[in-house]
Parts: sequence; structure tokens; C-alpha cells
Amino acid sequence: MCGIVGYLGDRQAEQILYEGLRRLEYRGYDSAGMCVISPEKELTCIRVVGNLDALGRELENVDLNGNVGIGHTRWATHGAPTRINAHPHLDCKNDVAVVHNGIIENFVQLRAELIASGHEFRSQTDTETIAHLIEEHYTDDLAQALCTALKRVDGAFAIVAVHRDQPGVLVAARRDSPLVLGVGDGEYFVASAVPAFLSQTRSVLFLEDNELLEVDHGGYNLTDLDGHRMTRQLAEVEWDLDAAEKGGYEDFMLKEINEQPKNLENFLKARINKATNRIAFEEQHIPEETLKNITNISVVACGTAYHAGFVGKYIIESLCAIPVAVDVSSEFRYRDLLIDKNTLVIAISQSGE
Ligand code: GLU
Repeated sequence: MCGIVGYLGDRQAEQILYEGLRRLEYRGYDSAGMCVISPEKELTCIRVVGNLDALGRELENVDLNGNVGIGHTRWATHGAPTRINAHPHLDCKNDVAVVHNGIIENFVQLRAELIASGHEFRSQTDTETIAHLIEEHYTDDLAQALCTALKRVDGAFAIVAVHRDQPGVLVAARRDSPLVLGVGDGEYFVASAVPAFLSQTRSVLFLEDNELLEVDHGGYNLTDLDGHRMTRQLAEVEWDLDAAEKGGYEDFMLKEINEQPKNLENFLKARINKATNRIAFEEQHIPEETLKNITNISVVACGTAYHAGFVGKYIIESLCAIPVAVDVSSEFRYRDLLIDKNTLVIAISQSGE
């Protein structure tokens, strides 16, 4: 999950983007970035490793002049949390800047194709392929280029993009990742979630899957990915900020419970190898032979994660026929442990523990 924001209006974009990202920080905090485009067609990008405090410190040293811009707070899926992998991502000529939430499942193939046709990649992310695809298809219309680019893309995305040659245009599109437009007085906000701009406007339009939004100083245009115009009434958000941060749910627990299927789906999607039809965990380096010799599994966790461990026990025992013990982690080190070299220990961490 990541947080994305976009702004187009008469005010300086930097502070509005930063405040928007602050409201979305829960969606990702391993790195962050921002790109602002000035009416003189100057595109300035800042990217940092770390959370929004780090971005804030960096912004003190730079003058981001412009009233159109995009921002991102990242929770990496492809490529380590480094400055180079932080969003926004650019094309070869530094004309296009893109922020993305989601996973481009066919990025390996797209990247190879783009490299073969001369594009130079700087990052290890799946996202950078979108910037190069736009570059490949751009003539003079960013919305059109994004539409064409997205026809090539499998996977989940919420994207916001700007192009140096169209400094008064912001485009955005989504499939399987949330995106919402906020309409103010002569200004527009795009974000992963309403809290990003709730202090600015309550008039919103929630994008549906496979919709594309083009915003300029005269208004906005909503189409499907074939360019057919879509019409939808703006909605008024009646929640206060607290309720908006909970996505309309009564409390965070309900929100998180309801988000679990989608989060699990996104997590697994990134790890399904379509060629072999298997789930492959790149981060997991235990040799196949060692895995085959496992005789016991010990799950170590606390709090809610301890209960999740019990659900895991039932699933693992039924799928693998290997006995699973679940331990409260704070007690684990004090016990006489019956574990040996063929025991797999799964430690579940959760924030704060
Ligand atoms: N796949 C992108 C990345 O790794 C976006 C991550 C996300 O939305 O969670 O940079």
C-alpha cells in the first residue's frame, strides 16, 4: 500500500501535497517524494528514504515552485526502500513524472521490451515501466498516452502523472487501487483517500476501476480507458476527519478487518509466478532441501498476532501435516524449548512489538 496525492490549482502545490501526504502516512513510510511542475515547464523532483519527517527536512532546502504537482509515500513491493526506488518515477528524458500505488504484474516483460527499444531504467521498481510506457506513446496528449500505456499493463494501479510539456494538466487512473478526486474552488486534488484533502474540500468523485481522469485549470474530464466520456455526480463527504480516516467504518478495527481480503490478494498477487503457477517468496532464502526436512513448526507471536498464529496453525497442519506449536513471544525465551535443527520458527511481528 502507498499514499498518493496530486494538486492542480492557483496555490503553491508543495505545502498542500505535503499536508495531504501527512494524512496518508499510515499507507506507507519507507520512502517519500514529490514532484512539482512550474508554468515555465520546470519539473522539480525530491525523493528521500524514510518517512515524511525526512521529506519535510529535504523540502526546507529546496524551492519547489509550481501550482501543479504529485506526491507519494511508499511502502515498497518491488525494489528496496532506497532513494532511487522512491516515487515519483521519471522517463528517460525527465519529461514525465509518475506516482503509483499497486503492482504492475507484467513489469518484467514490459521492462525487457522497453530496454530493448532503448529506454534506460534507473530503479528496480515495477512503477518506472509506466513512466517509460508513457514516454513511448506520448505525442502531445498525456491522457491519451496514459490510456495507451495502461492497455499494456496487467495488475493493480492508482496512478497520477504530469508531463513537462503540459504544465497545466494532471492525469490519473485506477484499477483495483483506490483513487478519489476532490473539487475545490478552481482547484483540484487527487488522492488515495479522502482525508488527504478533507480540510480543503468536501466535494468528491470516487473513481471506478479502469477510469481515467484529466484535470486542467478549466475543469476535469472523466473517461474510460478507451476515451469514452463518463458522467458521475460529485458527492459531498459528510464524515469528519476522524471518520474519514477510518474510511467510513466505525473504528479502525472494522476497517482493517474489511481490508484484509484485498490486502491479502495484493500481497499474494505480487508473488505469483504466472509461468510456473506457484507462489514464490523472493525474500525467502531457505533451500528447498531444508524445507523438505522440517518436522515441526513453532509460531512465536504476541497480542493479536498470537491469535493469527493459531489460525496459521490450523491451516498449516491441514495443508502440510506438520505439527505446529504457537507460543507467546515474551515467554518463549524462558521455556525449555523442544526445538531442533528441523524445526521451522515463524516469528510474527506487529507494529509496536
Ligand atoms: N509497486 C510500487 C513500488 O514498489 C508501489 C508500491 C505500493 O503501492 O505498495 O514502488
